Amino acid sequence: MMYDLIIVGGGPAGITAGIYAARQKLKILLITKAFTGQIARKAVAIENYPGFKSISGLDLIRKFENHLKKQKVEIKLDTVRKVKKAGIDFTVLTASRKQYQAKSVIIASGADPRPLEVLGEKKYIGKGVSYCVACDGPLYSGKEVIVIGGGNSGFEAARSLVNYVKKVYILESSSKIRADEINQKKAQKTGKVEVVTSARIKQIKGKDFVESVVYEDKQTKKTKVLNVRGVFVEIGSQPATAFIKGLVDFNKKDEIVVNHQTGETKTKGLFAAGDVGNLSFKQIVIAAGEGAKSALAVSNYLQNL
Ligand SMILES: Cc1cc2nc3c(=O)[nH]c(=O)nc-3n(C[C@H](O)[C@H](O)[C@H](O)COP(=O)(O)OP(=O)(O)OC[C@H]3O[C@@H](n4cnc5c(N)ncnc54)[C@H](O)[C@@H]3O)c2cc1C
Repeated sequence: MMYDLIIVGGGPAGITAGIYAARQKLKILLITKAFTGQIARKAVAIENYPGFKSISGLDLIRKFENHLKKQKVEIKLDTVRKVKKAGIDFTVLTASRKQYQAKSVIIASGADPRPLEVLGEKKYIGKGVSYCVACDGPLYSGKEVIVIGGGNSGFEAARSLVNYVKKVYILESSSKIRADEINQKKAQKTGKVEVVTSARIKQIKGKDFVESVVYEDKQTKKTKVLNVRGVFVEIGSQPATAFIKGLVDFNKKDEIVVNHQTGETKTKGLFAAGDVGNLSFKQIVIAAGEGAKSALAVSNYLQNL
């Protein structure tokens, strides 16, 4: 079967693209690993999405998902492994060895958490190392934990963790904290957060589970150890683009280069929307807007084929 459009990703960009494309009466398939995306990693409430003064990330993405499911959009829960183009048509290959054909594709695969890339990190994923406070925070009740990264996400993570844990250390590699002052103040007010700057993480150690983190104090060059049971990595994100190499150009941040008028990439009929693209700002409302824009641009593209 030939679809008009395949959308890769079920975050704010992909879901909004689906809603808009359905209203253009296109034959659409949306493939996503899950309906969670980065919103699900949000440790505290979202307070900047219009219409909701304060809403949890999971509640907001559920509302998006329910809205999408009211539209005429076919949905597959799967992981896209490759997108190929032959002539004017695209073939999308998935992890479950399925192949789908379409006249156009919107890549809305967003971003994955950036790994630390230190010794022990991979070994202890799910055994003390986590990239999602909202998902795993309650598992560390009464324990001491570390948040790595002193940006807004790191401080928000710490603010959420203090509801469960005994103490949170925030380790930041530079000598200055980047988080907004209000975020810093709210975290400090809890009395459970200790901030360590100029910390270069060297190793995560343990037996079956994490037991300690070794870091170097970049000022004194001394090696220090913190005995903790949990390590929450909050050092930013990296675009999820492994499956689309070859058909698009990337900038220095590995984001897909798009025409900002339409969301189209260098390949005709291949569009990208949301955090996966070279946008200046990464926010839910912006990703949703980019999804809408690319769906409307796809409709124009198909009419002119
Ligand atoms: C900790 C944190 C806090 C944040 N707080 C806020 C906030 O308060 N307000 C705000 O506006 N923004 C916030 N953001 C940013 C916001 O979450 C993103 O801008 C937004 O989620 C981007 O939407 P997206 O659809 O482009 O990508 P994503 O949300 O990343 O969604 C991508 C989707 O694609 C799927 N996917 C990925 N690869 C594949 C593949 N190969 N095959 C199939 N499916 C795939 C994923 O499963 C996911 O469903 C926050 C982000 C983080 C990480």
